[in-house]
Amino acid sequence: MSDCMLCPRGCGADREGGALGTCRMPAEIYVARIAPHYFEEPPISGTRGSGTVFFAGCALGCVFCQNQEISRGVVGEAMSEAALAEAILALADTGVHNINLVTGSHYTDTLARVLHTVKPHLKIPVVWNSSGYELPETLKLLEGLVDIYLPDFKYFSPELASVCSSVPDYADFATAALREMVRQTGAVVFDEEGMLRRGTVVRHLVLPGCRQDSVEVLRRIAESVPVADIRLSLMRQYTPDFAPPSAPKCLQRRVTSFEYDFVAAEAERLGFEGFLQEKSSATAAYTPKFTE
Ligand code: SF4
Repeated sequence: MSDCMLCPRGCGADREGGALGTCRMPAEIYVARIAPHYFEEPPISGTRGSGTVFFAGCALGCVFCQNQEISRGVVGEAMSEAALAEAILALADTGVHNINLVTGSHYTDTLARVLHTVKPHLKIPVVWNSSGYELPETLKLLEGLVDIYLPDFKYFSPELASVCSSVPDYADFATAALREMVRQTGAVVFDEEGMLRRGTVVRHLVLPGCRQDSVEVLRRIAESVPVADIRLSLMRQYTPDFAPPSAPKCLQRRVTSFEYDFVAAEAERLGFEGFLQEKSSATAAYTPKFTE
């Protein structure tokens, strides 16, 4: 991390020396929340919750980020690799269905070392929950350590990706990352209780005014990996509560039923299996309380 090239930003920040890259994080791990979480997809949250570890910072920095309380810089608690490994094992002991590392891409090499320590002691799957804006060569560090990939695939058009996250190359990097994830996990595997044990679940958040872009995202996914091998989580929980007044006008409202159903119909036509969200999910109430 003295010349950090971990993610597609490739900003080369000297994080070992205390410099902050676009992810706004030094080399030291900052953790914002470690707790069971009940609002992931049903085969991930189950009845006992998903064992989430939320990391501070993010290389993407979407204008509408619902976790912006923790994604915009150094917050939470600094943890050594040993302390984090201990905390993960303690979380597993609470009976959660999995260990879910949320937005850890800017710590991938460090987290790979932590996973090497804890993985032999875990009987539950490890989930890598990310923005999808990742490098295949960085993801290779996680091979054999991550059982379930849970990436976003946010945008297709360079213009939308640029306006929302200042990454016009988002779709091409997300495609390459998704291919690497599916290569590592293979097809989805569920246990006898319907909980996901292995595989890749792609999340797509439908944005207001952007249904055609959503359709292009689904088509890109379908032409990149075997649709039957993955699951799609089609999300409608977008809420304008987190978008600043300077964000594009279309982001200042919720997604309509017409827009969501339009995208869902295309997902069905393309043969995706997976998860849909209720209209009532579009509320800030589902954002974890990071201060608790
Ligand atoms: S992880 Fe952070 S510092 Fe490293 S390349 Fe990405 S944005 Fe830059």
